[in-house]
Amino acid sequence: MENKIWLSSPHMGGNEIKFVQKAFDTNWISPLGPNVDNFEKELGNYLSIDNVAALSSGTAALHLSLILSGVSVGDEVLCQTFTFSASANPILYQGAVPIFIDSEIDTWNMDPVLLEKAIQDRLAQGKKPKACIVVHLYGMPAKIIEIKEVCQKYDIILIEDAAEALGSSVNGQKVGTFGDFGVFSFNGNKIITTSGGGALVSANFSKIAKARFLATQARDEAPHYQHSEIGYNYRMSNISAGIGRGQLEVLDRWIEKRRHNYSQYNIKLKGLFQEEPENYFSNRWLSAVIFEGYEIREFIRIQLLKHGIESRPLWKPMHLQPIFQVHPFYGNGISEKLFQNGLCLPSGSNLKIEELERVINLVIENSI
Ligand SMILES: *Cc1c(COP(=O)(O)O)cnc(C)c1O
Repeated sequence: MENKIWLSSPHMGGNEIKFVQKAFDTNWISPLGPNVDNFEKELGNYLSIDNVAALSSGTAALHLSLILSGVSVGDEVLCQTFTFSASANPILYQGAVPIFIDSEIDTWNMDPVLLEKAIQDRLAQGKKPKACIVVHLYGMPAKIIEIKEVCQKYDIILIEDAAEALGSSVNGQKVGTFGDFGVFSFNGNKIITTSGGGALVSANFSKIAKARFLATQARDEAPHYQHSEIGYNYRMSNISAGIGRGQLEVLDRWIEKRRHNYSQYNIKLKGLFQEEPENYFSNRWLSAVIFEGYEIREFIRIQLLKHGIESRPLWKPMHLQPIFQVHPFYGNGISEKLFQNGLCLPSGSNLKIEELERVINLVIENSI
């Protein structure tokens, strides 16, 4: 049996264990400590943003971003439909209503034109959306400049779900730093991992200070335990942050490897790819290809599986999910097409050249 090939698996650089060892040596085995402080600084330097809160997950970061945006029961939140459910679940945690927006074909992310139409329609119904969650899917930046313009025009808070897009940029500016809030994930399958973790970033110092406060049970300043607000246990552990510090050292090298995977797939395979618009830079977290139809996509997925190769259909849009389908949706058919015909191929930064070739050859053999 040939080696199993994963879609995207953890890839350590080597120094992670040193930062973890230091945590053990100094007994900082807790959800705070020097690794957490330094990870926040180092991530901030990488992104060129001052305020970073290291958290237990990307989902926790999204949840806090909604709380800090003042989103509560009955409020409407615009959200990209073509995404992973973690982008939308926190809207429901707050008792708010998601309004799903379809994608455009260039980046596969939220369509800024459709976004504006949706806002106008909500306003006509007497409801003003409070926030907008845009996603940089598979590492490809959304049309963030256009989307930011629309949000500013209508005074709507912009949250970037950059969970899949650490290191991606537009005009040299890192995604996650355009909106009022940026969200990152360090889950095991992401471009770098802390074994599970996330971060919330913002240009606004007091918002991130408040995020840290809420994430540590919202303790008021008092000698005893006193609470005036709902608190959460959402901080990153000092062990996880140690892994993250080692991972940040290799991030740009891992991005180069993922970009190499993508360019090989793009050169050698037929199909529609997620091409970078001018001045866009994708970290190429996952390489995805759109086949001519659902049958051929499924046939190839199953052939790969038979050879021990993990691939995955593109995200099933939120407006088609049983838990979300009752909510308003502004569509154009694009996310449904991408979901039907698209497949994510093995994309790890630790994928060997011969493994990449095995995948490419199998896809080619089975495409005819
Ligand atoms: C992974 C992911 C999240 C959630 O991050 P976790 O750290 O797993 O909670 C949110 N949004 C998108 C688009 C993701 O891919």
